[in-house]
Amino acid sequence: MALSIRKNDLVTIISGRDKGKKGRVLSVNHKKGTILVENCNFVKRHTRPIPQKNIKGGILEKEAPMPLCKVKLFCSDCQSPTAIKSKTTEDGKKQRVCKKCGAALIKGA
Ligand SMILES: [Zn+2]
Repeated sequence: MALSIRKNDLVTIISGRDKGKKGRVLSVNHKKGTILVENCNFVKRHTRPIPQKNIKGGILEKEAPMPLCKVKLFCSDCQSPTAIKSKTTEDGKKQRVCKKCGAALIKGA
């Protein structure tokens, strides 16, 4: 998948209760079609204390994976949610660019 969202990309949530939130991609599961975004889609998990394993128990808040269709890549150049376009550079390499402003989307930038 050349045009997919990758780890460390900046994305924005386009639907659901976290709509409008921005975060960095922690992981992408292409098989399941889900994405894990930093500080988004928190779920409360009730944990039982397991003294043998040194687990305290209580309510734990953790990011949960959400469907890929709920997020859009966020371009830091034009400051808006955007789609990815593929561009071939002069040396024949494929590059992901912003569909709106054409800025190159550098991994981790
Ligand atoms: Zn842009």
